[in-house]
Amino acid sequence: MSNLPNTPATRQLGSSGIEISSLAWGMWRFAGQDVAAATELVHAALDAGITLFDTADIYGFGEQGFGAAEELLGEVFNENPDLRGRMVLATKGGITPPVPYDSSAEYLTKAIDNSLRRLRVDQVDLWQIHRPDILTHPSEIARTIENVVKAGKVRTFGVSNFTTAQIATLAQLCPVPIVSTQPELSPLCIDTVENGELDQAMAMDMAVLAWSPLGGGRIADPKDQREQAVAAALSGVAAAHGVSRTAAAYSWIMAHPARPVPIVGSQNPARIAEAADAFKIQWTRADWYAVLVAARGVPLP
Ligand code: NAP
Repeated sequence: MSNLPNTPATRQLGSSGIEISSLAWGMWRFAGQDVAAATELVHAALDAGITLFDTADIYGFGEQGFGAAEELLGEVFNENPDLRGRMVLATKGGITPPVPYDSSAEYLTKAIDNSLRRLRVDQVDLWQIHRPDILTHPSEIARTIENVVKAGKVRTFGVSNFTTAQIATLAQLCPVPIVSTQPELSPLCIDTVENGELDQAMAMDMAVLAWSPLGGGRIADPKDQREQAVAAALSGVAAAHGVSRTAAAYSWIMAHPARPVPIVGSQNPARIAEAADAFKIQWTRADWYAVLVAARGVPLP
C-alpha cells in the first residue's frame, strides 16, 4: 500500500521566508478568561510545538465585545514580556459589526492601528483581511497593504475566505505578496480540496491556514450520518496509531500536498497538547481517500 510522506513539524509561511509550525493555535474562543488561564493556554500551545498564533480584531464580539480576544492576548504579553518573541503572531480585520465587511483604506488603516494597540505590539507578523469586501477595489487594498508594510506595522499579508478569483485579482494588483489564505477546511468541509483553492495555494506559494479543522468540534461529536461516517474513517486510522480521532483529523488535513496548517481551536490545555499526536500518523493513500469519500458522501468516479 502506498504511503504518503510524513508532515514535517515546520513549514514556511508562504513565500515570506518565515518558519511556522505545521499546526497553529487559534483564539476565536479565547476571550472571557482570566489572564492566568489565558497564559496557561499560550504556554500549552508553545509546549505542543506550535509557533503560529491566530487571532482577529472581531474575536470576542458578542459576549465579551469586539477586540476582547486581542486585548486579552495583549494582557498576557504585558505580564509575560518574553512570549511575544516566541511566536509568529497573526491577526485579521475587515469585519465591522453590525455592517458586514469594510476593506476601504480608511477603515483598514485604523483597524490595524487598533489591533496593534490592543495587542500591545509594534508589529504583527501576519495581517489578514478576514472576509472579502466586494465594494472595495483591490487596487485600494493593495495601496493600503503596501503602506502598512512600509510603516513596519505589518510584516506579511494574507487573506481569509477569499475565492480563488479574488485572490488572483488581488495578487495581480498588490506589490506585497499574499503569503497565506485562510479557508474553512476539515474532513467535514472539503470544498477547498475540490474547488481549486488548495491548488492555487500551491501554485502561488501561499500557506493554507485551515479554520475549524474539527468542524467546530463535530469531529469529536458527530451528529448526522455523513459526520458519523467521517468520524468512523478517522477513528480506524487513529486506533491503528494509538492516537485520538481529533489528532487523526488534523493529520488528514496536513497530509494534503498543500500542507495546510490546521488552526487548533481548543481552549483546553490537555487537548492542545494532544494535537501534537497528529505527527504520529502515517497515512496510506487508501486510508486518506476513504476519509475523503466519507466526507463526499458519494464514491469517487
Ligand atoms: P475546531 O478545532 O474545529 O473546534 C474547536 C471546538 O471544538 C472547541 O469549542 C473545542 O472545545 C471543541 N472540541 C470538542 N472536543 C474536542 C476535542 N476532543 N479536541 C479539540 N477540540 C474539541 O476549531 P474552531 O475553534 O472552530 O476554529 C479554530 C480557529 O480557526 C479559530 O480559533 C480561529 O483562529 C480560526 N477561525 C477562523 C475563521 C475565519 O473566518 N477566518 C472562522 C472560524 C475560525 P474545547 O475548547 O473545550 O476543547
